[in-house]
Amino acid sequence: MVKVFKFGGASVKDSAAIQNVAEILTKYPEDSILVVISAMGKTTNKLEEVVSAYQLSDEALFLRLINDLEAFHSQILLALFSDRQRKIYQIIETIFNQLRMRFSKPFSENYSFEYDQIVSLGEVLSSRIIDAYLTEKGFSSVWTDARSLLRTDNNYQEGNVDWKKTEELIQQNLRPLFTHKKIIVSQGFVGHTSEGMTTTLGREGSDYTAGIFAHCMHAESVTIWKDVPGMLNADPKLFEDTVLLKQISFKEAIELSYYGASVIHPKTVKPLQNKNIPLYVKSFIKPDEKGTVIQANSDFDSLVPSYILKFDQVLYTITPKDFSFLVEENLSGIFKRLADAHAKINMMQNSALSFSILLDRKKVNPDQVLQMFSDSYHVKYNEGLELITIRHYDESTIQKVTKNKEILVQQRTRQTARLVVKKIE
Ligand code: ASP
Repeated sequence: MVKVFKFGGASVKDSAAIQNVAEILTKYPEDSILVVISAMGKTTNKLEEVVSAYQLSDEALFLRLINDLEAFHSQILLALFSDRQRKIYQIIETIFNQLRMRFSKPFSENYSFEYDQIVSLGEVLSSRIIDAYLTEKGFSSVWTDARSLLRTDNNYQEGNVDWKKTEELIQQNLRPLFTHKKIIVSQGFVGHTSEGMTTTLGREGSDYTAGIFAHCMHAESVTIWKDVPGMLNADPKLFEDTVLLKQISFKEAIELSYYGASVIHPKTVKPLQNKNIPLYVKSFIKPDEKGTVIQANSDFDSLVPSYILKFDQVLYTITPKDFSFLVEENLSGIFKRLADAHAKINMMQNSALSFSILLDRKKVNPDQVLQMFSDSYHVKYNEGLELITIRHYDESTIQKVTKNKEILVQQRTRQTARLVVKKIE
């Protein structure tokens, strides 16, 4: 059976990190492993800037950004492969040259399409380098192109997976590679449409790719290698005395990641749950430690309260100008406008005449929201807020996190308390 390992951007951010990946793989000499790789370090953000420069027709900036990225990757190549005649140098150079050449074509109407063609290259570069390095080190490794294995629809920047076709492609084209090789290196985050154009699965989507591959190959397990010891009950940058969640259920992991625990991408768990494939979250710094296992058993879910904080939140109150009640018809219209703007609602609440929603300021700003509803609604907003979610709360945990904070909205179910708060200055 196959194990799927996913290495994110931080775990392949420089040559030492890549050497560490090889080190981890040596601990699994008997296993067949599909390695899913993210773009190195901050490459995806840089490629997003490349897309913007292209859209603005700023050739100087476009080329400067690509040169920076090429220099970053070259420096890693030089540290890993002393012989500059290695084929990998040429492979990487060709990718950058092809990227530069895109500028001669006009930017199409479809931003998301252009985005996917360019931003997907981060994963191609990193996976090429890692496969070459593993081969050089004597691993039985082969590179494969996830862009031709994962079929999605044409929803660029957030492709929806065609599961049937993807499973077929993986069974036909990926699985046979394991008859001759122990390690297959592929990319996270990317896919293709039925016309063969590249798509991406949304930011941080490589975890999801690992879940998709594992589901379609009936893998034995998935391991996500992180710079934290596993899933913690809170962000260690914000809380002291965090606790490692050693074992939690699929359901609990989905809830935690849905509310914003950023350790795993929220879409990752479902394909694994459906086939009962365990998901391990482990530290690439201390790979021998157990980390967290996410599986079907929910006995341990409620042992410790978990805290999830989202900052820079804006609370909007939307009221119909003509005083009509907020009922299903106009609510569905409100949802449609928000969905068209790719706004993701973090919390909502309604009364007879008003509908309140909480949105990330980074994703949509207040001007956009005012504009969106200006024809038939009055919109008021309150910014600079925090959303605190506590799973398995009790009164003392609520008091602890709301100290020196004014509570604007509060919602509680049996398992979860959600509080929108403002710091008291
Ligand atoms: N490279 C992509 C991103 O940074 C996907 C991923 O790393 O999961 O969003």
